[in-house]
Amino acid sequence: MARRRQIYEGKAKILYEGPEPGTLIQYFKDDATAFNAQKRGTINGKGVLNNRISEHVFTLLGNIGVPTHFIRRLNMREQLIRQVEIVPIEVIVRNVAAGTLSKRLGIEEGTQLPRTLIEYCYKDDALGDPLVAEEHIACFNWCSQDELHDIQDMAIRINDFMSGMFAAVGIRLIDFKLEFGRLYEGDFSRIILADEISPDGCRLWDMTTNEKLDKDRFRRDLGGEVEAYQEVARRLGLMPEGSENAVLDLESHRKKKGS
Ligand code: C5P
Repeated sequence: MARRRQIYEGKAKILYEGPEPGTLIQYFKDDATAFNAQKRGTINGKGVLNNRISEHVFTLLGNIGVPTHFIRRLNMREQLIRQVEIVPIEVIVRNVAAGTLSKRLGIEEGTQLPRTLIEYCYKDDALGDPLVAEEHIACFNWCSQDELHDIQDMAIRINDFMSGMFAAVGIRLIDFKLEFGRLYEGDFSRIILADEISPDGCRLWDMTTNEKLDKDRFRRDLGGEVEAYQEVARRLGLMPEGSENAVLDLESHRKKKGS
């Protein structure tokens, strides 16, 4: 049997050639990195949870008319996606001050922002994904003005939808990161949502206790990463009932048992 072709390996995911032209397989790893990969680790079972959570969110976004690269989940760690040309910008949407915004501007973490803030980072690991302005995006033509408008419209819709979705299960959506891509259809292309939406790229705080249910548990050495990701999945209704100790990932379960 021929080995499938790897297209790209990132910090948390691998992309393989898909079964049909224009498709890819997105594989979710357990690897975790922070601070531009200066901190590295493994969160056992993270890939399985992120695959499931991202499938859920992308499906719901698709249902409200947000175009996405998601086609369907294939198994515990893989999903079939549409191949796109990634726009080299990370779109950060913020509702509450935290992380680099708090650091940069001296705003206490947890301060509600007067309005939703969208920031952009240029996707370049060697440069540490620097913050850029809309002017940089236009000047270097990372995307067109029309494309940026589409991205902004979608980011606001996604934020509105996800804020409600998480609030309904007692979670405050503090901030999150989105990536978009160009889907080519003949001579034309349109912008669609790509990458993933999971606790790796969102800040999610419990609404009553402010407990962090996201990758900050890893970044800040708080412990309980898997439990936090599981809790998000559980509240979204993605964990089978009474599955506290359910074997989510047979692969890592077998490795742990040495079989
Ligand atoms: O670190 P910072 O405060 O700028 O992050 C804002 C949001 O974007 C956080 O939810 C974080 O998880 C996400 N993010 C990300 N990947 C990056 C930078 C930020 O997922 N490279």
